[in-house]
Amino acid sequence: MKLLENRTAVVTGGAQGLGYAIARAFADAGADVVIGDLDGEAAAAAASSLDIGDRAIGVACDVVNLDQVEHLCATAVERFGSLDVMVNNAGITRDASMRKMSEEQFDQVIAVHLRGTWNGLRTASGFMRDQPEGGSIINVSSIAGKVGNLGQTNYSAAKAGIVGMTKAAAKEVGFKNVRVNAIQPGFINTPMTAAMRPDLIEAKLADTPLGRAGEPSEIASAVTFLASDMASYITGVVLEIAGGRHI
Ligand code: NAD
Repeated sequence: MKLLENRTAVVTGGAQGLGYAIARAFADAGADVVIGDLDGEAAAAAASSLDIGDRAIGVACDVVNLDQVEHLCATAVERFGSLDVMVNNAGITRDASMRKMSEEQFDQVIAVHLRGTWNGLRTASGFMRDQPEGGSIINVSSIAGKVGNLGQTNYSAAKAGIVGMTKAAAKEVGFKNVRVNAIQPGFINTPMTAAMRPDLIEAKLADTPLGRAGEPSEIASAVTFLASDMASYITGVVLEIAGGRHI
């Protein structure tokens, strides 16, 4: 029996990058997969590239919009019969020094990460608490929420906020066997980081004991563990997956 067989998993921001790698790992582990992303066509294309036929679907969803997140989760339940795993992964950056950062750049990043994660948590836990077997929610924070990143006061604040939200939610829904955990990836090779300034990339890698960037699959394997029954007594945890950058 595969780790996530007979489970339904929703991954937000799953059309590319970390979210896509997580969706792929879930599919390999036997789960039915629903990819939610801003661009519905990209989400559908990503789902069909998982090669598990109609056990993977893509849905257009802006995580900032609660109605759309409710539609995303309801679609998973209608289509596959349950919602067992939710990964709140969708994210953006709008980097600038504080003096140059606009209020809009600040608000956009806070909205996608904090409101988006809260929308996913609130909605998914609502479905999971009504299932005898509960469920597992994984929120994607960042090592930036622990150590702070230059030019990312907005992003670092949002990612630190996800840690507090994860712990509060874990306390709130644990009695219904809904587990809520967070991960803090370090520097991982994705389209998001490909757009970064080379000198900033170099500085981050110099600060990473393993001396290299991580690959999306290295995040996906840890998320698959947290999603599965192998982590059945783990909740409220923040797992750093950062090549040692958090030490
Ligand atoms: P990415 O930019 O490659 O992919 C992000 C995905 O999220 C895209 O498909 C995008 O369309 C989607 N998205 C953006 N806003 C959305 C919204 N409002 N609603 C729905 N979907 C939306 O980024 P990534 O590197 O794969 O990052 C994924 C997550 O991991 C983010 O939360 C990011 O902050 C976090 N993270 C990334 C790294 C890294 O090094 N790449 C490190 C730590 C944390």
